[in-house]
Amino acid sequence: MPTTLGYAEPVDEELEDDPFPSKIGGKPKWLDPTRPLAADQVLCDECTKPMTMLLQLSAPEDEPAEAFHRMIYVFACRNGACHTTDAKRCMRVLRTQLAEKNAIYREQACDHGAGADSNDDIEWVLADHVKAAPLCAVCGLLGNKACSRCHTRRYCSRNHQMEDWNAGHRTECPSDKPPEKGSLDHEQRLRNLLYPEWVIVSEEEPLLAKDDDDDNDVIAGDNGGASIGESAEAENAVEVSARTSEDLEGLEVDVDDAFMAFQQRVQVSPDQVIRYARSPGSDEVDEPLFVSNTEQPEIGTDIPSCEQCGATRQFEFQIMPQMLNHLLLDTADPASIDWGTLLVYSCPKNCAVGGPPQAGSLAYVPEIIWRQNFSSHRARLRDAST
Ligand SMILES: [Zn+2]
Ligand SMILES: [Zn+2]
Ligand SMILES: [Zn+2]
Ligand SMILES: [Zn+2]
Repeated sequence: MPTTLGYAEPVDEELEDDPFPSKIGGKPKWLDPTRPLAADQVLCDECTKPMTMLLQLSAPEDEPAEAFHRMIYVFACRNGACHTTDAKRCMRVLRTQLAEKNAIYREQACDHGAGADSNDDIEWVLADHVKAAPLCAVCGLLGNKACSRCHTRRYCSRNHQMEDWNAGHRTECPSDKPPEKGSLDHEQRLRNLLYPEWVIVSEEEPLLAKDDDDDNDVIAGDNGGASIGESAEAENAVEVSARTSEDLEGLEVDVDDAFMAFQQRVQVSPDQVIRYARSPGSDEVDEPLFVSNTEQPEIGTDIPSCEQCGATRQFEFQIMPQMLNHLLLDTADPASIDWGTLLVYSCPKNCAVGGPPQAGSLAYVPEIIWRQNFSSHRARLRDAST
């Protein structure tokens, strides 16, 4: 089963109208707008502030019927300093889903004429009675708090009320009726608090060219491919210096073959930001593409079974280091957010998301995220090149 790759592309006008977008950054689009996620499910364990949405992925499944619409949300604290600890303290993955027949959406035939019996000609629009819950003006989580002066701006938390106050609400609030949208500067300042928004488009992974039929260990760069974040030349230079320098003797035998395999696989399609391993209707799941021999999670301990149904969680997708390039991070800051790869494991049974039908957190089931860093060996090679 081929892996599906996701790529980041600039936002277009279709994103606004898509009820089930796959995207990086911006505010979340809720599968059920009457039940947005509440901030208390995504508070950072380090700084206690609400995390920011890193991405959402529309990943429908055939089984069970309740997973016909299925959305995975990944949140990550914006504060790079929080990421020096365990990923589960500063990042969170949540799953939600909706059956094909539901009270939120109705099917509507599209007007592009031909092929009227094809599923592609159905679009989903919000049912008329659906009243979206109020959202935080800063981050788009459930806005269950309001500004105490104007009572119109809504917030998920006191922290975001303060952020909005400082970003511009201070000057807009004193009037009885503050403008629905803040000034351009105000809106821009709020956007800067989120991750930049990109559409995720997907494509099957191209097959590896089978030109090297002997599978000897391949030294990075020797077939001219570019490596992640470094030029092939730089990598070659490091290899040469490692071979010629007495001080670095021994490094070569240390070569992390998981990292080498990672580079080889990725260079076929170097812009990939997501690798998606499942396919609906099939039990086959691709293995994660590890970035290192170390920090590989143990299923059952590092990746606990589903708390709801007891099923052994299964690898679903991974976020690639290339995504970091799209987040406008301050890479000069040593405390900047970083990862080799982020692995997402989820319940393979897509067990029911529960809770009473009201705005709040119960419609979202936490799944597991695992961060793997590039190995220290690779870091040492990097250091040697500077
Ligand atoms: Zn934090
Ligand atoms: Zn908020
Ligand atoms: Zn106000
Ligand atoms: Zn489950």
